[in-house]
Amino acid sequence: MAFVKVDNLIKNYGSFCAVDSLSFEVEQGEIFGLLGPNGAGKSTTINIITTLDEQNSGTVTVNGCDTVKQRAEVRKIIGTVPQDIALYPFLTAIENVKFFASLYGLKGKELEESAMRALEFTGLSEHAKLKAKKMSGGMKRRLNIACGIAHHPKLIVMDEPTVGVDAQSREHILNAITLLRDKGATVIYTSHYMHEVEEICDRMAIIDHGRLVAQGTEKELVSMITDSKTITVTTRFPHGFDRDGFTEQLKLLPDVNSVRCEDNTVRLDVRLTSSDFSYIIDEIRKFSLPLNAVQSTVPDLDAVFLALTGHELR
Ligand code: ADP
Ligand code: MG
Repeated sequence: MAFVKVDNLIKNYGSFCAVDSLSFEVEQGEIFGLLGPNGAGKSTTINIITTLDEQNSGTVTVNGCDTVKQRAEVRKIIGTVPQDIALYPFLTAIENVKFFASLYGLKGKELEESAMRALEFTGLSEHAKLKAKKMSGGMKRRLNIACGIAHHPKLIVMDEPTVGVDAQSREHILNAITLLRDKGATVIYTSHYMHEVEEICDRMAIIDHGRLVAQGTEKELVSMITDSKTITVTTRFPHGFDRDGFTEQLKLLPDVNSVRCEDNTVRLDVRLTSSDFSYIIDEIRKFSLPLNAVQSTVPDLDAVFLALTGHELR
């Protein structure tokens, strides 16, 4: 059974439909990405899953509990990292984390230890006594995460946790998310950064204008739009080289759909299912051609988004 099940969710703001018949499922123990441009409906969906908002119709269950009818049960197992940073500026890092974790019933030694571990996790243990108001934007983001995870939630929901952070904080955040998953948590992660979702998410849903565009693993999504990748070999053809004969020879190789030679490059369209293409390189070597560069281009989520929606992600 799916850990989170979003079924035919609709959310209207007046006559505007922000989430339109959205359905997707998140499996236990995975990092699930909700990918879409600004205004796609990611935060609205997240706020309904985390019981901060209510839908007009449709249902969401978390670990089998309905987010409207069993709100208290759902809240107990969720850790939320909101898009807008929610911290007490005059409290220190550890005081902030302890405050949020205490709302979940943690007390005494357990509270102290869990708060310290959450700070370690986000690379902030050295700054435990620093007031939130003195922190950089990236540190505040990390503290925001520490506050959301200290009570060991089974489901962690993070809404664009890397927006506006420096590269170092971003690395800390992405590593922390992967570690949380490896320790058994289920993570829902929203972003409009395609590369982050590609980097850390096991499966994802792409949404646009409140509607589901596609869901699956990156591989599954890419295979929805194409069944091939391009291998580009840069070489130097000697004077009088028989390019036609060479092209014909390469076309005979398994999994090669087409071959084009231009200037000093050979471009092969190869089936996605073929992962080891050393036999292609071996064949080119037989013609005593130098291999100056070899590049493999697989379509990415940007290409998937463009192909399925007709416009760019950003
Ligand atoms: P995302 O998080 O993907 O950027 P949101 O869920 O925040 O998108 O917003 C989806 C759409 O709903 C946007 O067009 C936004 O302007 C609109 N919206 C969000 N919250 C409200 C609200 N409280 N009242 C009216 N419109 C809203
Ligand atoms: Mg948002």
